[in-house]
Amino acid sequence: MTRELAAHFPHEMCILHRLIILVFGGPTCALVSHNALLLRHLWPAHPLLAAWCGLRVSLCVIRPYLWLHVLRAYGRARRQLTPALVAQAFIAAQDEPLVRLNARLGVAFIGWLCCSTAYLVARGWMEGGRTGAEELLWTHCKLNFWSLLVQKVLSIVIFFYLISSETVSRSLLPETLDAYSTVETLTHADVTAAGHASLAAAAQTPDARRVLCTTECIICVREFAVGERVRWLRCPHAFHVECIDEWVLRHKNLCPLCQARIGPPEPSLAELLGEEGEHAHAE
Ligand SMILES: [Zn+2]
Ligand SMILES: [Zn+2]
Repeated sequence: MTRELAAHFPHEMCILHRLIILVFGGPTCALVSHNALLLRHLWPAHPLLAAWCGLRVSLCVIRPYLWLHVLRAYGRARRQLTPALVAQAFIAAQDEPLVRLNARLGVAFIGWLCCSTAYLVARGWMEGGRTGAEELLWTHCKLNFWSLLVQKVLSIVIFFYLISSETVSRSLLPETLDAYSTVETLTHADVTAAGHASLAAAAQTPDARRVLCTTECIICVREFAVGERVRWLRCPHAFHVECIDEWVLRHKNLCPLCQARIGPPEPSLAELLGEEGEHAHAE
């Protein structure tokens, strides 16, 4: 599921995973501190409950260090040159040992919380009530459940906000676009020859003198004029600099005319989802 989401929304997933740590790291530390205080309160009168609280604290001691590692890994992924490379780096980061350990400790904590809740609920039903020490642990469990609920709801809200937001830059980095295109000013000869090269012919002769395939920029549908700055992609098609920059940097790293990818070689969606490997394995 995470792999699929990363393949389709790589930038949003990097931002979301970093935000969750930045927003909930503090409250989680506060909850662990609450648990440590509980441990101090329960020891030595209730050794079993105290040991159980100690287990929860020990599961979390290393996590701030792991969060720093996760923040750095997803930050690195977000700085990749193209969206598919961002997705690839995000998926690779999830396989890093420290990122995995962080995820496993998170699952272990959920297990701890479920076991605690099941025990305390059973005690409430079967024994007709909980002891004072158990009530303290019950309060702690309820705080954790509220925290988890808020975290999950907020994650979903933030994710949908990010995928619909116009402010998230989710395509190429500007420097990648510059490296894989050239900006030129149109001359009289360029404008006169415009429209006299077919899309296919232009694509087959990328090294020949480039000729504008259309008389207008197909993004803004305005005729090309002498003196205007255009960006030549490697396919090779040209568009007004401001039109293609808006298109490529905000939306997709594809040429609007021929759908050629802009930027370095990148993995396909099937490779990102690991489908090719699975098919090969099945054969
Ligand atoms: Zn234009
Ligand atoms: Zn093109």
